[in-house]
Amino acid sequence: MTANGDGNEWIYKNKDLGMLSASASLGMIMLWDVEVGLNQIDKYLYTTDNSIKSGAILAIGMLTSAVHDETDSAKALLSEYLTEESNPAIVKLAAITGLGMAYAGTNREDILELLLPLVSDTDITIDLSSIAALSAGLVCIGTCHGEVASTILQALMERMDSELNHKYVRFMLLGLALLFMGSQDGSEATLETLKAIEHPVGQQASVLVQVCSHAGTGNVLEVQKMLHICAEHLGDKEDQLPQAFAVLGVALISMGEGVGAEMSLRTFNHLMHYGDVFVRRTVPLAIGLACASNPLVTVIDTLSKFSHDNDKLVAANAIFAMGVVGAGTNNARLAQLLRQLATYYHKDADTLFIVRIAQGLLHMGKGTMTINPYHHDRSLLSHTALAGLLVPIVAMTNAEKLIMSDSHFLLYYLVRAMYPRFLITFDENLEAVTTSVRVGQAVDAVGQVGRPKTITGFQTHDTPVLLAHSERAELATEKYNPLTNVLEGFVVLQKNPNYVEDESDNSLVEPEFWAGLAHHKLHSAKLDTARTDIEGEFLCGRRHAVRGPAGNAQEQQQRVATPARLRAIKQSWNSSESVGSHGVHVSGTLTNVNTIEEFKAADKGELLRASGQAILEHITSGKATERPELLWEFVVLAFADLKKYRFYHWFAFPAITADPPDIVGGQQTLLEYVGGKYESVRELAGAVKGLGGAFLAKFKDGQWQAARLSEWDGFFDEDAVVGFVDPSSHATRPGWPLRNLLAWIRYTHAQQRQVRVLCFRDALAQHQSGADSAATVESIVVDIHVTSTSSLKAEGQISGWERNEAGRLGPRMANLSASMDPSRLAESALDLNLQLMRWRLAPSIDLAKMANTRALLLGAGTLGAYAARALLAWGVRKLTFVDNGNVSFSNPARQPLYEFADSVAAKPKAAAAAEALRRVFPGVDSQGVQLSIPMPGHPVPASERSATVKAVERLEKLVEEHDVVFLLTDSRESRWLPTMLGALHNRLVICVALGFDSFVAMRHGVQDAESEWPRLGCYFCNDVVAPTDSLTDRTLDQQCTVTRPGLAPIAAGVGVELVATVLQHPLGAAANAATNDADDGGDGGVFGVPPHQVRGYLGGFRQHAIVGHAFDRCTACSDSVMQAYRNHGYAFLERVFNNAHVSEDDPHRELEGLPPSGYSYLETLTGLAKLHRETDEMMDDIEWTEGEDDVFEEL
Ligand SMILES: [Zn+2]
Repeated sequence: MTANGDGNEWIYKNKDLGMLSASASLGMIMLWDVEVGLNQIDKYLYTTDNSIKSGAILAIGMLTSAVHDETDSAKALLSEYLTEESNPAIVKLAAITGLGMAYAGTNREDILELLLPLVSDTDITIDLSSIAALSAGLVCIGTCHGEVASTILQALMERMDSELNHKYVRFMLLGLALLFMGSQDGSEATLETLKAIEHPVGQQASVLVQVCSHAGTGNVLEVQKMLHICAEHLGDKEDQLPQAFAVLGVALISMGEGVGAEMSLRTFNHLMHYGDVFVRRTVPLAIGLACASNPLVTVIDTLSKFSHDNDKLVAANAIFAMGVVGAGTNNARLAQLLRQLATYYHKDADTLFIVRIAQGLLHMGKGTMTINPYHHDRSLLSHTALAGLLVPIVAMTNAEKLIMSDSHFLLYYLVRAMYPRFLITFDENLEAVTTSVRVGQAVDAVGQVGRPKTITGFQTHDTPVLLAHSERAELATEKYNPLTNVLEGFVVLQKNPNYVEDESDNSLVEPEFWAGLAHHKLHSAKLDTARTDIEGEFLCGRRHAVRGPAGNAQEQQQRVATPARLRAIKQSWNSSESVGSHGVHVSGTLTNVNTIEEFKAADKGELLRASGQAILEHITSGKATERPELLWEFVVLAFADLKKYRFYHWFAFPAITADPPDIVGGQQTLLEYVGGKYESVRELAGAVKGLGGAFLAKFKDGQWQAARLSEWDGFFDEDAVVGFVDPSSHATRPGWPLRNLLAWIRYTHAQQRQVRVLCFRDALAQHQSGADSAATVESIVVDIHVTSTSSLKAEGQISGWERNEAGRLGPRMANLSASMDPSRLAESALDLNLQLMRWRLAPSIDLAKMANTRALLLGAGTLGAYAARALLAWGVRKLTFVDNGNVSFSNPARQPLYEFADSVAAKPKAAAAAEALRRVFPGVDSQGVQLSIPMPGHPVPASERSATVKAVERLEKLVEEHDVVFLLTDSRESRWLPTMLGALHNRLVICVALGFDSFVAMRHGVQDAESEWPRLGCYFCNDVVAPTDSLTDRTLDQQCTVTRPGLAPIAAGVGVELVATVLQHPLGAAANAATNDADDGGDGGVFGVPPHQVRGYLGGFRQHAIVGHAFDRCTACSDSVMQAYRNHGYAFLERVFNNAHVSEDDPHRELEGLPPSGYSYLETLTGLAKLHRETDEMMDDIEWTEGEDDVFEEL
């Protein structure tokens, strides 16, 4: 509609207000997009048709509703249509409505100044006045605006009774009521005044005002009052509208509070049974109001029941309510029910219209919207949204005359209630951020102690997320603090200043370690689960400077902490490796179990205790004083699932904790400690090199002195610090090795209460970052008060199992199948190789075409083996070999897929080749089919007939199942049947044949109706004799293919490259052929135009590309042959195999029992025989021609 002219036509299908509604839908389509929307709508403002113009005016009102528009375009554009006297009523109506929508809830006096004269002027029609009153009510909704109230009251009193019976007057009353929305007692004076109006509108207005005043308060007394009004049984003549408003009132008053809302739903059931018809008609609307965008199953069921009510209006209202209840949810159940209703009411245009409206509501915004006026966990009621909902619902109280008749534009008031259901998160600069949130059903946590769960059954999603009614979201991370306690709509997040990226003592296990473990398990440990000593190292913590996100005012450098690493390197089964510059060698024990159950059941406490005990012993024995690394033994529990290459592992770093704990005092950076001299910081790195994981250091007179822990006595004084290589990269927190170091100090130097500890971190980072920034110096100096305890044993509380990625105490799993499973490795390596070709040489090559090609190789001999290898290298994954022979002793040397053992076992060649291919590359899907291809001139004995029939069937099926058929057999006649079948099924057939020192590799032409060139020929097209038995009565050297050994790989390779060239050509097998060397590389595929046949000669090493077109009397691919097979099937083939000689005139005559002729069946069938005879006759003629000698002389 917005994009092209067709939309106009659609508008013109409607009339008057219909046209207004149609063109007004533009506002809904462009909702909230003021800039683009105004441009689109603008052109409709200048049409001469007032209905369309009015629609455009209304669209502007919708478009700008609930949007902060600095240019105030709605007022600027709409007000002129009000002030201009000459404008027709419909234009004014639209402008008034539009203003009401655009400025609802703004309480703007300038808008009221435009509207109020229209309310009070009794000269203009009552409908315009009513809508003006409604708009005024919307503008200052809930403000108890005195002037507006008195203007409306005045109008009600001044208008004549007949005017007050107009169907639009209810909107004037609603306008009045909206003024007092939620004001409770604020409406008392107005209620008093209304009593003075004798016309029934006084009573109607009074109910409506009361209802709105208490909207959402849950005031039980008011609900009782309304129920009382509903319960009265009125006569036919009495005004029933107050009852309708009272029914709506029950929903409106009780909707704000859970229990009340539930009670009201029960009350509605009651009213439905016992109420008067007018009450019954309103009940579905009230249900819709109470459950807007909240498709509860019970509510859907109730409404669905009413939607088939005998009273047409009850049904219509129920259907409308279904739309309201499901608005913006895409609820599948409602969608189905509405589809059924559309069928049910297909003859009832009015009801069908309501069904369509409901369907539209259901799929509003493709299911991303809500029209529920409550926000923030039912603690905020949007008055304007409620009003937006109320106007159409009040209009539905007289659906026949309003919505179903001409006033459907009133539905557009819903625009004020529409709101996206998204939870979108922003940072403080209002840049969208994505964070993970848990989403679940809200739990009423009021009155529960502690921090109860506020949602149930959560799932974790990344924002933005859609929230359904009664669903709540919680932040799943502590990285941010939300600035609101209920997460819905647009939420601003503040960075949590206390949040620390998880910098726990991560073990970083390098893949080589697992490879070593796998090897160890397979070859030496086997099922032994005894502990193994392993070694590892941990490195200094470091932070890397990375550039901040682009677009910042200044490109900030952010500091990103690298997790402290512990990598297991040297194992007893692996050679030792050198440790990086500031890494610390530590040893540990590995317990490798055999099953996952064993892994789970392992006594982790005991493993840790044993290791902790060892550390304690190292301390007491003094070994740790000599070798501080002994303080940091670690434990690994592992289970290697070698089938799947998954390694479950759990590291523990036993830490001896003190009770009471040591107290951390003052803290400074190393740079501060050395008086800001960066040089001095750097010098430390050199001074402590080679001292191990812990050392003593002293900074005196600008110089560093360093010593080993064992040199404590004599070195340590009040200026000295105890340093250790700290894997932590946290700005202020020392890493885990400190605990055991303190335990050592506590035991070895018990008198030392106060120590200054240097957490030594990466010096490399300091060098790289330059000397200008103090922030780059990571090492810190911490003062610690060491707790005194009498005995080490007493404090033997040991902790240290590592937390996993999820932050829980639990094992991790390293899945190395991608990097260790050999078959997957082979696959990715092969892919890589092919990809390289793509990157470097032929960027547009389509590797998928090769990979998806299914190749059938007829013949698993020398050619078959070489072709298979070349296809494999091209990434072809589906290969089927057909052969009937067994591997013989002469084969392995020439045929690279067989080995000596295969010939000893005399394995069937096809199966052996397929198996060998899988050994070469496990990712291949290779099959071997043991099959003897029937051949012309090789008569089939009766005993083998059924087997031959089956062989033909099998072969035909194989040809159908593959994309490329390779003819690689060693006799001419064995190629005949597959050539015919390939032509029949239009497959790409590649034929490779060898002579002693020459070869031909060719592709057979395929049928292509669109082709502009003649079809290419097949292997038999050049022959002028039909294939016959070439094997019988031959000497040994004649029977076997005797060729120069290098020829087969050349020929097979050419054949495969021919396939690659054809497949990369845009026309594929239908591509025309390149005729000679000048042609290749022309237009065509990546590899140029494929030749038809390549003939090569080793004598002189020449190669030619030649083209031969299909021969219409070919014995294999001509139509007559294929037709004969189609018509006679095996009977035809049998005669070919038996090489029956038949009559030339009618090749089928013998099938009919007639005597044979002198030519073979095939020759006769194709007309070759006739050709032969004609040629002979011509030769006879030539012989008798005079001057023959002259001819030769001239040559
Ligand atoms: Zn042919």
